[in-house]
Amino acid sequence: MPEFRKDIILDEWVIIASERAKRPEMFKEEKIKIENPPGMVCPFDKGNENMTPPEILRLDINGNVIENSNPDWQIRVVPNKFPALKPLAAPGSKLYGIYSIMDGFGLHEVIINSSQHISHLSNLSKSQIRLIVDVYARRLREIKKDPRIESLIIMLNQGKDAGASLEHTHSQIFALPINSPVLEKELRGTLRYYRRHKRCAVCEILVFEAKENKRVVFENSHFVIIHPFASRNPFETWIIPKKHYPNFENIEEEEIQSFAECLKILVDFFYNELSNPSFNYYIHTGPLHTKTDHHYHWHFELIPKLSIKAGFEIATGIDICITTPEDTAKFMKEKLKI
Ligand SMILES: [Zn+2]
Ligand SMILES: [Zn+2]
Ligand SMILES: [Zn+2]
Repeated sequence: MPEFRKDIILDEWVIIASERAKRPEMFKEEKIKIENPPGMVCPFDKGNENMTPPEILRLDINGNVIENSNPDWQIRVVPNKFPALKPLAAPGSKLYGIYSIMDGFGLHEVIINSSQHISHLSNLSKSQIRLIVDVYARRLREIKKDPRIESLIIMLNQGKDAGASLEHTHSQIFALPINSPVLEKELRGTLRYYRRHKRCAVCEILVFEAKENKRVVFENSHFVIIHPFASRNPFETWIIPKKHYPNFENIEEEEIQSFAECLKILVDFFYNELSNPSFNYYIHTGPLHTKTDHHYHWHFELIPKLSIKAGFEIATGIDICITTPEDTAKFMKEKLKI
């Protein structure tokens, strides 16, 4: 059973989930490869539906929910076969000597982004990506009904260096009984900014960046793609909604369309113009039981694996970014010919 353990120095939770992987001696062996070996049957392909745990949702190409027996699916949502968290555990911490521990309660779902064996979102059309974004919002609206869930994270790992364990493109949703340390920091920082300036920090960023026009890569009716002023990574790219609201799952129909356009632009850029690096993307969305209406503004972050964090970054938490966001934004804009 996975377990939350409190780091009492940083006052942050970590998850110890040993059944996910390895006995210590296995680290002597070769690292896991993600290329499907020849002859390996992919559990996410059409026709192999019985290789995954019983599914939660199945949609056709038009976004209609269809029967589990209908073979004409485009997206399936299933529980993770090797979850980092388990739905049957009870939330609530208890003491263990000087430490705090908590059962590893939470949900861990996998969204199979396509019924075809495709390894990169770039191989999907804008309308297929729109459907994935739609599923993100649908699942979050459903999962948040459970009052034990405090926060949600949507993410995608692209490529071996980003931690993808299967090459068939898939997204993941984690539902947590706590706010993650990163979300806590964003909540604290934006609340402090709000108290000082009576404005949402992200709304302020949108106004300033539009005026300066040095780090904006693209915008459409509802979203802006930017390289953040204080980027921590080369080509770190954010998609920010123009409308202020804390929770992603409240995204509206026409915004989904607009967001999918931005996401398609991004994944195509990294695939075609930047030698297809591994990347992680995730959506930071507001907590479910903390009031954040005025100061929290949901957003999407994509972090390509183009540099390695070294001792200084790990020891201090201060990232050294080896490019300027002004240069990378300009480069990206030129390549996109926008
Ligand atoms: Zn596959
Ligand atoms: Zn805002
Ligand atoms: Zn964020």
